[in-house]
Amino acid sequence: MSSSVIDLLATEARFGAHNYQPIGVVLTRGEGVWVWDTEGNRYLDCLSAYSAVSQGHCHPKILAAMVEQAHRLTLTSRAFHNDQLALFYEEIAALTGSHKVLPMNSGAEAVESAIKSVRKWGYEVKGVPDGQAEIIVCADNFHGRTLGIVGFSTDAETRGHFGPFAPGFRIIPFGDAAALEAAITPNTVAFLVEPIQGEAGVIIPPAGYFTEVRELCTANNVMLVLDEIQTGLGRTGKLLAEQHEGIEADVTLLGKALSGGFYPVSAVLSNNDVLGTLRPGQHGSTFGGNPLACAVARAAVRVLVEEGMIENAATQGARFLQGLKDIRANTIRDVRGRGLMLAVELHPEAGRARRYCEALQGKGILAKDTHEHTIRIAPPLVITSDQVDWAIEQFATILTQDFS
Ligand SMILES: *Cc1c(COP(=O)(O)O)cnc(C)c1O
Repeated sequence: MSSSVIDLLATEARFGAHNYQPIGVVLTRGEGVWVWDTEGNRYLDCLSAYSAVSQGHCHPKILAAMVEQAHRLTLTSRAFHNDQLALFYEEIAALTGSHKVLPMNSGAEAVESAIKSVRKWGYEVKGVPDGQAEIIVCADNFHGRTLGIVGFSTDAETRGHFGPFAPGFRIIPFGDAAALEAAITPNTVAFLVEPIQGEAGVIIPPAGYFTEVRELCTANNVMLVLDEIQTGLGRTGKLLAEQHEGIEADVTLLGKALSGGFYPVSAVLSNNDVLGTLRPGQHGSTFGGNPLACAVARAAVRVLVEEGMIENAATQGARFLQGLKDIRANTIRDVRGRGLMLAVELHPEAGRARRYCEALQGKGILAKDTHEHTIRIAPPLVITSDQVDWAIEQFATILTQDFS
């Protein structure tokens, strides 16, 4: 590492809160699936900023939309109308078949907004006694970092010493429809769940789970809230992961790739009257729905569809998964994935996944460990067959070594 890189790392360590432990690479430029560090080394980005950069780094059309809009108008607040919001609503609703849209900024804000909305729906439409609404969530969930959300996390690091937390959440195992049925009470307003648990290590529920979940929610007048902040917008090879089981959520949460990584943009989409219970003054955000965000999101969604990225995620995801499965290595316990949301789980004896990620860096691949023994792989959806094949060679080289 050059002295200037060492200086940057030291300055970060000195002034920054140490709430992250990044791999020791300082990135300065990105284009498509590639990123470059300050020393000119090139890497294939197999994290895509946790799927926010699905359209590839610095996509030229999203960039052009952002620059054009930034020259004209960036922020009005919702005290006034702007000429981008209606178009954003119209296009996202048409694409996803939603009836109502609530624009926010971060993913966590979309989750918080959904929680507020389903509670309000519960009191005003379902008739739950005031203050009694219950929301069911899953063990090992990841929905963001606000106080409301970490209060129903089951991860000790995520919750530790941040309490007291808000009541009103029940936790059940993921992938277990019988547990959902048993947890529903007359006061249950919603089931909040990820279609595939990303942070937990790309955990795919058993086939048929979401069909049963949908039936249980419908039968009990419980809103099914799918957090598609990571799985949505093509990541799993479909526009929304719910389409793998042919179901429709009542409330869908989008974020991350909604802006192609240019800007924080999230949204709550609803198929029914959940968002309809919100009246003026009851919820809001200074930046939510601003014209810059809307212009960026419109371009991000447009290129995703027009450039065939969703289909490419299905094709290249299948190729990547097969390539990883074909690697013969004693270190590998399991390989799983759907579309370009993939993971290699290592045997505990093989050593920590982080060591493998650091070794992959030396081979020109940036990937991220999760939960000690899992390497998650989520390249931009614009990856080509040749790039997938090259990546698999690098994974094979590293996974056949022992870093225990
Ligand atoms: C990233 C993520 C969030 C939180 O999004 P932020 O923009 O980081 O607040 C919520 N849910 C899921 C499933 C995510 O992957």
